[in-house]
Amino acid sequence: MSSRYEVVIGLEVHVQLLTQTKIFCGCSTRFGSNPNSQTCPVCLGLPGALPVLNRQVAEYAIMTGLATNCGIAPRSIFARKNYFYPDLPKGYQISQFELPICEHGWLDIATEEGGEKRIGITRIHMEEDAGKLLHSDDGSGSQVDLNRACTPLLEVVSEPDMRSADEAIAYLKKLHEIVKYLGVCDGNLEEGSFRCDANVSIRPWGQKEFGTRAELKNINSFRFIKQAIEYEVERQIEVIEDGGRVVQETRLFNADTGMTRSMRGKEEAHDYRYFPDPDLVPLVVSNDWIETVKQDLPELPEAKRTRYQQDLGLSDYDAEVLCAERELADYFEACLALHSNAKLCANWVMGEVTRGLNTDSIAITDCPVSAERLAGLLKRIDDSTISNKIAKTVFDAMWGSDQAADAIIEEKGLKQVTDTGAIEAIIDEIIAANMGQVEEYRGGKEKVFGFFVGQVMKASKGKANPAAVNELLKKKLQG
Ligand code: ADP
Ligand code: MG
Ligand code: ZN
Repeated sequence: MSSRYEVVIGLEVHVQLLTQTKIFCGCSTRFGSNPNSQTCPVCLGLPGALPVLNRQVAEYAIMTGLATNCGIAPRSIFARKNYFYPDLPKGYQISQFELPICEHGWLDIATEEGGEKRIGITRIHMEEDAGKLLHSDDGSGSQVDLNRACTPLLEVVSEPDMRSADEAIAYLKKLHEIVKYLGVCDGNLEEGSFRCDANVSIRPWGQKEFGTRAELKNINSFRFIKQAIEYEVERQIEVIEDGGRVVQETRLFNADTGMTRSMRGKEEAHDYRYFPDPDLVPLVVSNDWIETVKQDLPELPEAKRTRYQQDLGLSDYDAEVLCAERELADYFEACLALHSNAKLCANWVMGEVTRGLNTDSIAITDCPVSAERLAGLLKRIDDSTISNKIAKTVFDAMWGSDQAADAIIEEKGLKQVTDTGAIEAIIDEIIAANMGQVEEYRGGKEKVFGFFVGQVMKASKGKANPAAVNELLKKKLQG
């Protein structure tokens, strides 16, 4: 269907920053408090109140800029974006316009063909959020809650470099992962901490000029963003095939119908009468500051994945899973620091630990088995005190208690039996009780060997050392 047209997508992402206080005043950013309880003359927009920039916001902006390969402006300017709306008491939003703090960045995304594609980042600027309107159900009126007014946001604007919904999602997920790793945003799409406006246009293949774009707003999941873009592309194709023209406008996505509908004509920058905010001095960022921030940046997901593969010898898949969340990677690394076997560590974190967390719906940061205790368990697998199978029993016991692996192994008598005398005694019994199978084995039916291993392990309650069992069984069965 879309084969006659090329799709062009540019994304604007609003990233809500995890600062304790607002961008231009000391009010708390805590979510869910009583309406208007976290306000002051500055965020209420009272005449004469003066904004002061929160240093943490600038630092988070610099971190995000560095992590997305942007240049950091030595001097940037706050501007007033003028418009009227009841959730914006000042009548303008403080944002950045001509001189944003970050410019000319990029992110590389994986393409479906297995290659990489570079998506340009035009700019990242700082701005304040507006308040929130609460509309009564019976239509009797609306109220405004200004707790959210002045909450710090970064707006990350991409170049129109994406050519499909899948590329847009790949870019978004990458950006999402980065801001979460940096700890500048909680990344909650549903609650609006990471929100995306998608600009979508189409053009006939080979045409140089871009087509007219529609901007899709209010989409709160990756799945819906993909759905909205795909719907919008089909809609635009139909408009053009019917001889019409796409108009520049803002459209809303409806998750229930999967469709977009026109909300308003698109405003242009000049409609906002941007001008430098006379209440705020230009922000000067020294090289020293940038260097300090750079030094303190955490290892980013891409670098971490590469390191896990190259230095720890983990597979592509393992690296991907472990690095998906910084907290999971942190847990893995804490365990690894106390235990040198990376593969065993990875298997347990991705296996039993993750399974337990999923079953009980808990976050890795609240994992009942600390990385230290897990490392204690893995040591006992490595030194053959217990088998991998028994280790799972010990792990389950650890999940429900504060005990160390060693204490549980001791208490439950789970130590692997490596004493050959004890194993031999069991084997003798099993052989005596199963002479029929012994004959079969001696007659060349080697499969029966597995039966004997199973019987011996069972009789030892899983505690016999499997290597010793194998060796001794072979000897005894040959007779
Ligand atoms: P505005 O704030 O008015 O939406 P910006 O220039 O800040 O304008 O952002 C425009 C966004 O739209 C950018 O992400 C840009 O890449 C994208 N864009 C611009 N032109 C097109 C187009 N023709 N098709 C798709 N996306 C576009
Ligand atoms: Mg826009
Ligand atoms: Zn305030």
